[in-house]
Amino acid sequence: MLSFIKNFFSKNESLVREPQIIPAALHTLSRDRLSHLCLIVLDTLNAAGFEAYLVGGSVRDLLLGREPKDFDVATNAKPEEIRRLFKNCRLIGRRFRLAHIYFKKDIIEVATFRKEGKEGPHQSKNREGILKRDNVYGTLEDDVWRRDFTLNALYYDVKHNHIIDHTQGLDDLKQGIIRIIGKADARYREDPVRILRAIRFAAKLGMTLEDHTAQAIAKKRHLLSSIAPSRLADESHKLFSQGNAVNTFTLLRHHEVLQYLYPLTEKALAHPTLHLATDKFILSALKNTDARIAENKPINPAFLVSVFLWYPLQIQLEKEPPSKEYPDIQLERVAQMVLSKAKKHLAFTQLVTETVLDIWLLQFNLIERKKQRIESLVSHPRFRAAYDFLCLRALIEDNLGAAADWWTRWQADNEETRHTLMAATASASKPKPRRRRRRSSRKPSEIKIEAE
Ligand code: ATP
Ligand code: MG
Repeated sequence: MLSFIKNFFSKNESLVREPQIIPAALHTLSRDRLSHLCLIVLDTLNAAGFEAYLVGGSVRDLLLGREPKDFDVATNAKPEEIRRLFKNCRLIGRRFRLAHIYFKKDIIEVATFRKEGKEGPHQSKNREGILKRDNVYGTLEDDVWRRDFTLNALYYDVKHNHIIDHTQGLDDLKQGIIRIIGKADARYREDPVRILRAIRFAAKLGMTLEDHTAQAIAKKRHLLSSIAPSRLADESHKLFSQGNAVNTFTLLRHHEVLQYLYPLTEKALAHPTLHLATDKFILSALKNTDARIAENKPINPAFLVSVFLWYPLQIQLEKEPPSKEYPDIQLERVAQMVLSKAKKHLAFTQLVTETVLDIWLLQFNLIERKKQRIESLVSHPRFRAAYDFLCLRALIEDNLGAAADWWTRWQADNEETRHTLMAATASASKPKPRRRRRRSSRKPSEIKIEAE
């Protein structure tokens, strides 16, 4: 599989390995495999006399024959120097200052080499030892040791067409090993998000965590509770949107890390009566997500949030004392409560929150199938997501099969079938007392569909 190393290791077993320069003849990277925009950035930096390398996931993925998600560049140019070279450059980030070079809708991220520094205005840690700022600049030799895993610390020099490997990352890549650079405990303490990254890469690349990299997770995972909910939300989205969500979920549970992202879900997975349903429901949704990604179909990040929190919502509803509220009013109130608890850990956007609420609240109407509501339901921006959600529920709740099936047939777009379905609905649906509908504070024009 990994022919990119072209027998390098079998020929060079006895080499002293630090650092290794892998010449063009011994690897499969070349200029023409890089994006045009990335070449503009690398060439401009080189032409101005700076060192500039392609690094990180793009080198890793290209060597594995995968399509890189993005192209990351590392350089000895300081952020201000980068800004002077590119008109289309914006400097971002306080914790980790980066240059973003904009080309219409594409961005190339350029990071200045970092090194381990003394605590001060440019590098600081909080009481738990978590890096709050990491902006002490250094050389390539320094930068290597600040990176997370050996397979992410390969530097491709486009000028000489060689790869620089200080950490035997190529060896690990060849063997399918995710190995943290340096002492695992210390590196996870500095940045606990590396735990999530280790799991993400293991799941995404089908690789194994090296022993220390795996064992230290148990000692440091509690530190994930100190990470900003907005950063965790970003990481959580990455975890489940790369086509290996089922494996990722299994690994997150194996390493007891899910509780730092979705503590309510973790509780539902241990619930005396609902644990099996929760597990089956989530796994079915993740399987669908992976299948959609494999077919290049878009995914809606809110859909999985609605899945992860559905059984926590049911558990909370079960605890509710008897009330005179209409069931859908009660559902909305409890749903808001569950979502605001979940947001203490993962800061979903407002759009995600509203989409989740819609998916959940539409369940009532989809099951009820009131004749006069059918058309407006079908044209609801979240109809498709709510219908998918209902189909998923029908896998677990036998009594929902008929409703899911009804909507599947309705969408088949056959007038005759619709007529029959409608006639059946008219006689099946019982009149319900009227109530005031939830009013959205958004104007219709503000309601966006992210993806179905
Ligand atoms: P992908 O883009 O496919 O998710 P990636 O490895 O490129 O994977 P990025 O988040 O784009 O991930 O980061 C680029 C590189 O920056 C990484 O490969 C790694 O070398 C370094 N890096 C990113 N996050 C960290 C971190 N938390 N700690 C140390 N190094 C990191
Ligand atoms: Mg990347």
